[in-house]
Amino acid sequence: MVEFFVVYDNEARNGFIEGWGFACYIESKRKVLFDTGWDGNILIHNLSLAGIEDFDYIFLSHQHWDHIGGLNHVIDRTSFVVVPKSFSKNLKREIGRKAELIEVEKLKKIDEGLYTTGELGSYIKEQSLIVELDDSFFVVTGCSHPGLDVILETAKGLGYVRGVMGGFHGFSRIDILKNYELVIPCHCTMAKQEILKLENAKECYAGCCFKI
Ligand SMILES: [Zn+2]
Ligand SMILES: [Zn+2]
Repeated sequence: MVEFFVVYDNEARNGFIEGWGFACYIESKRKVLFDTGWDGNILIHNLSLAGIEDFDYIFLSHQHWDHIGGLNHVIDRTSFVVVPKSFSKNLKREIGRKAELIEVEKLKKIDEGLYTTGELGSYIKEQSLIVELDDSFFVVTGCSHPGLDVILETAKGLGYVRGVMGGFHGFSRIDILKNYELVIPCHCTMAKQEILKLENAKECYAGCCFKI
């Protein structure tokens, strides 16, 4: 079983603080912080409320303020930081001074049970995380700027994709989402209310936790 704990989102409940951005902690064979939200103090508050202390990897989906803003507050809690190769030289240098930097270009395995789609998209490059479950895969996205359909098709290169969570941005082809067992629209998802009407959809907010 893999645990997905949302620790930063535009919505929050149960003492967690909301803020524009996204971060999700994933615990499988390895511990991963996916994105860092914008406000490091909010991130730290939410992490400690969730009882999360450190990670093996911080995985950054794309170079937007609401996904990397909290990095400096938590970079000393990780060994590795995984970034799309297209991140700015200066940012990669600063990260590399504090942690081991892993640059990603194509779909590849990062560690046991963890894969990246590789950097997708042209104008805004973004990578998504693919987590291996017992017999399938689950995808975590930041903003889905390259298009959620493109991201999911890429993930299918590994095998059966059970579902997806994260920011879906302007994705509007709701019919495609019916093909998955579990869909969790977070953060910047514009069609959130419409997606939540699907039987396979679950609500997302800082403080929610899914064991999949
Ligand atoms: Zn973005
Ligand atoms: Zn965003």
